[in-house]
Amino acid sequence: MSAQNNSAAAEKPPIIWLNALVFAITFGITVVAVPWYAITHGFSTALIVGMLATIGFAGISITAGYHRLWAHRAYNAHWSLRVLFALGGALAVQNSALHWSSDHREHHKHVDDNDKDPYSAKRGFWYSHIGWMLREYQASRYTNYDNVKDLQQDKVVMWQHRNYLTLTLLTSFGWPILFGLLVGDIWGSVLLVGVARLVINHHTTFFINSLAHVWGKQTYTDRNTARDNGVLALLTFGEGYHNYHHIFSADYRNGIRWWHFDPTKWLIRACSWLGLTSDLKRTNGYQIEKARLEMQFKKAKQKAQVSCETTLARWHEEYDQLMAKLREYYQVRKQLLDVKAKALADSVHLPTMAELQHRAEELRATFMAHKRAFQQQLKLVSAS
Ligand SMILES: [Zn+2]
Ligand SMILES: [Zn+2]
Repeated sequence: MSAQNNSAAAEKPPIIWLNALVFAITFGITVVAVPWYAITHGFSTALIVGMLATIGFAGISITAGYHRLWAHRAYNAHWSLRVLFALGGALAVQNSALHWSSDHREHHKHVDDNDKDPYSAKRGFWYSHIGWMLREYQASRYTNYDNVKDLQQDKVVMWQHRNYLTLTLLTSFGWPILFGLLVGDIWGSVLLVGVARLVINHHTTFFINSLAHVWGKQTYTDRNTARDNGVLALLTFGEGYHNYHHIFSADYRNGIRWWHFDPTKWLIRACSWLGLTSDLKRTNGYQIEKARLEMQFKKAKQKAQVSCETTLARWHEEYDQLMAKLREYYQVRKQLLDVKAKALADSVHLPTMAELQHRAEELRATFMAHKRAFQQQLKLVSAS
């Protein structure tokens, strides 16, 4: 047994010292030097505001830029916005957008596969959070960018990739020093806007690979470890709805309800009104509702452990009826949207529109009533 352990330890890939040192030094400064400076000199309100704004800029460059724009192609963005995301991404110190997207596409393609998913949650919390970056676990993949050939056509992506180190050094040191000069406290700014900000940006992003794969609800699928978590969304600019994201990754939204905290989605949407973003991809409502109901049904069946064939058969029948209603409602809804678009284009009022509207409302109400009754039935049996 101990011989096996020894050979496993000996087989561990080499440490990536640059990464290890950057993480260790910045973390050490944040927990020791930042509180010491706060006590001995104090941080001004301007510095705290500067830190929060920089966290926002670097963080959203990762979520809206690296993640939803480049890794998933969930929308298109004007070059000016792409340049901002490239600079913010360098400031976030998370490698180039090309490299990051390549890793992330592997993560989605092979999620939870301990050999192929670069940050597989099944290898434990530490590994998926930060451990995967500390050793050369997938060295063979580091320069293979075959899965991001489309991004190699993007001039901004390639410019950032070629100049990544220069841009990272310039933004990570240049911005805190410049801000420090502006507010008259260079060391305070280097500590707060430079180092503590970086550590916060790092770990909140890393939470998406670690916490978002262990803490929360599997609302849409249990085929992978990804979870939906509203609390995590607050810390990650809306990326906490990770279960939804793993099943519908082409969607520019992660939190799909209006009350879901997803500032990345709001930014992308607001930019579309200004003409800075376009072709925002959304998953069809029918697919979303279907996945949700399928999961609810599956969980209820597991929880209740129904052995009675008749009850199960009735449930399945009811479930099929519910799905038929859902399909019908979305068909009429689509017809209505098509007619609306045509009416708008022709600037004429089509009489069928009112009828369709009425029919869609009716179908929606019937579907919702049926859904509530069905869910109630599942709950009652699960509880008994
Ligand atoms: Zn994930
Ligand atoms: Zn993703």
